[in-house]
Amino acid sequence: MMIVMKPTATEAEIDAVIDRIETLGATAHPIFGTELTVIGAVGDRAHVEHLDLDGAPGVDRVVPILKPYKLASAELRQGEPSIFNIGGSRIGGGHFALMAGPCTVETREQTLDTADVVKAAGATFLRGGAYKPRTSPYGFNGLGQEGLRLLAEAKERTGLPVITECLDVRDLPAVLEVADVLQIGARNMQNYGLLTEIGRCGHPVMIKRGLSATLDELLMAAEYVLKEGNPTVILCERGIRTFETAYRFTLDLSAIPVLQELSHLPVVVDPSHAAGRRALVEPLSLAAAAAGADGIIVEVHPEPEHALCDGPQQLRADEFADYASRVVRAAALAGNAIQASVGV
Ligand code: PEP
Ligand code: MN
Repeated sequence: MMIVMKPTATEAEIDAVIDRIETLGATAHPIFGTELTVIGAVGDRAHVEHLDLDGAPGVDRVVPILKPYKLASAELRQGEPSIFNIGGSRIGGGHFALMAGPCTVETREQTLDTADVVKAAGATFLRGGAYKPRTSPYGFNGLGQEGLRLLAEAKERTGLPVITECLDVRDLPAVLEVADVLQIGARNMQNYGLLTEIGRCGHPVMIKRGLSATLDELLMAAEYVLKEGNPTVILCERGIRTFETAYRFTLDLSAIPVLQELSHLPVVVDPSHAAGRRALVEPLSLAAAAAGADGIIVEVHPEPEHALCDGPQQLRADEFADYASRVVRAAALAGNAIQASVGV
């Protein structure tokens, strides 16, 4: 249920509505917009149905949210996109995020060199995996705590906020020390215990679409995090499994406008894991940026031939600046611009 307050509603009237929702055993999620305050009431249907707030002081109207995801739905914010400022970098509502860095943190030199290159080219977030989900249990699965330490050093040096994956709830305290955004990988999109714990920690989160997940399932995963009172959730399209085998996954470009129609949350595209090979990464990035994605997350390595993971798809560090300038131009076609505000 969504309680839309009158523009003239007082703080006391807003508090009274929140009290009423919570007294009935539901949870209130107030959203203070520039003009209006909207209060989402979520919980068991039995609780939410008896709110009786129609005509209450300061209440303009009470509207049911028909979608199964409530807090993630576009309706909740009356079609206004969420804009997040994470560690000085903005994303959403016209602010384009360029998240770049190695697939995996391998060595100090590789991590710091890549961080310097992506920062100089205008990236607004540094990506890098310390805990890696690998299809083979014999694959290199990341440096763990040492990888986090190197990411912390790269962050200190460049000022870029860090996005890194948390694979297991047991690693969460350590990952939280370094991550500005916690990545939930495609394989964990429906790990509901992890989503709930990460929701509770209140840290910004990016959820990657599962290999065979529908957009509704992705939005329900976001709802798990939002329901815990964590409002900073980014969605990521990273390619889905289809019958086509000419590339690793099929990048679902339609997901960009459709998710933006269904939800107020920013939508990032990962062309690297969709493509699986370098030559496809730039065309997919340009298409995604021009289609209105709120950001791109892309893999970059100083020597992809020697990468311990995903070498064939990582962009060459020395080609990254040209790539980045073309992506920024494509984003501009959709009315989006990079607006980092590092230090703010
Ligand atoms: C990654 O971004 O490092 C990754 C493993 O991606 P995905 O979960 O989309 O496969
Ligand atoms: Mn990778």
